[in-house]
Amino acid sequence: MHNDEIDLDPDDWQELTDLGQQMVAETFEKLRTVRDRAVWAPPPADVVREIESAALPLDGEPAEAVYADFCRIVEPYVMGNTHPRFWGWVMGGGTAAGVLAEMLMARVNSNTIGAEDAGSHIEASVLNWLKQLLGFPASGSGLLVSSGSMANLIGMTVGRDSRAGFDVIEEGLSGQPPMTVYCSNETHNSVDKAAGMLGLGRRQLRRIPVDADFRIDVARLREAIAADRARGMRPLCIVGNCGTVNTGQVDDLVALHRVAVDEGLWFHVDAAFGAMLQLSPQTRPLARGIELADSVAFDLHKWMNVQFDVACVLVRDAALHRRSFSPPASYLARFERGIAAGSHSYGSLGPDLSRGFRALKVWFMMKTHGVARFAAVVEQNVAHARHAARLIESDPNLELLAPVVTNIVCFRYRPQGCPESELDDLNREILFRVQEEGLAIPSSTRLDGKFAIRMAIVNHRTRFEDFDLFFKRVLEIGAELTRCAAV
Ligand SMILES: *Cc1c(COP(=O)(O)O)cnc(C)c1O
Repeated sequence: MHNDEIDLDPDDWQELTDLGQQMVAETFEKLRTVRDRAVWAPPPADVVREIESAALPLDGEPAEAVYADFCRIVEPYVMGNTHPRFWGWVMGGGTAAGVLAEMLMARVNSNTIGAEDAGSHIEASVLNWLKQLLGFPASGSGLLVSSGSMANLIGMTVGRDSRAGFDVIEEGLSGQPPMTVYCSNETHNSVDKAAGMLGLGRRQLRRIPVDADFRIDVARLREAIAADRARGMRPLCIVGNCGTVNTGQVDDLVALHRVAVDEGLWFHVDAAFGAMLQLSPQTRPLARGIELADSVAFDLHKWMNVQFDVACVLVRDAALHRRSFSPPASYLARFERGIAAGSHSYGSLGPDLSRGFRALKVWFMMKTHGVARFAAVVEQNVAHARHAARLIESDPNLELLAPVVTNIVCFRYRPQGCPESELDDLNREILFRVQEEGLAIPSSTRLDGKFAIRMAIVNHRTRFEDFDLFFKRVLEIGAELTRCAAV
């Protein structure tokens, strides 16, 4: 018995329990009333200074005091994506049930490497559900990961390893002809990152032009593959888009699959948010062909509104998936008995060995909300996007910059007589003002060289009236900004 032994548990459990109860109550109150507050407020300079130049905390202070700091300098200045008018980039809002799910994850603090424990089986169950939703075979393999970017990297890794034509896993790339990957020029830059990290080279990623609807031009793709073969390159993989980041468009995945089969290439689909179109019979036809992929990457923290961070990669051929990530290690040996028994080895399906119990929050939220409810949110957001498109098209001062097929809307303010050369600056200023007023958070992109205000609608709290409010303000700001110039 040593009297000086310490641990990190509270001195007073009751005190921490009281604080926890207060935090739960305040958490739900904040979520219930989120609509009443500004979407976003920039952290003031003195707050930034206080946060970033804080001294190393050598001695602890009561959790209550730290929570008070959180309420004072963190929470008022966070991203704001729980708010119904947050439409920037592609960001889910999380759910109240998800808060509890994350608490349970923290409660058991499991490391889901794939030991013989309930966590392994929960992840297997969640992966089975996701395979069913995407139309993937039960024999396929999968893994929950941190992000769509990581899921793309894993899918493309398995594609490289299985289609290189030599043992790239053991031998590496040196001395081999360059290998090429094909996607449209609307593809997310996580695919460029993957091409770089995989040693293929970003320049070997062929960004094929899109048609007027922002879908890959399949004839140009075939030409590019033939041209590369003629030059001695080794075509490896096609990456299709199910929901492009700029416009929410879906490539002709059935046609891309046909090209991949004809050419012997791996077919990976980046379905970061578009995979959720599969949830509803109403939107499922939009994602046609996703089930043909050799591997597919998608986020659960976007259109499924699971708390950050969690995404998924599915691979049709489980053996190929395992082969890419399972070098031998005696300290990870599996046995027929004990905690190292069991049939799952999540640490051998991706770069991470230690992995949080992300499966638990997905499991908890899928069971709590039900797939039908998630599907209804997807349908509702698609209807929101169409409503926004109608508002834009019915106003002579607004211009829709891309067809609205799923949940992304790109537009600009374009008053009559305003020269094209001034529209980019004008719309950038409108974007800054709606953001800085805390009214709404759209983001931006460029389409055909034009600056576009862009809204990606994945938030379950968004309502039709939010668009009426938003466009009214856009038109007011636009009129204020052009009054001096135009009249
Ligand atoms: C968001 C997104 C990604 C990247 O996913 P992260 O989870 O942000 O890493 C990839 N592709 C598309 C189309 C996306 O929208």
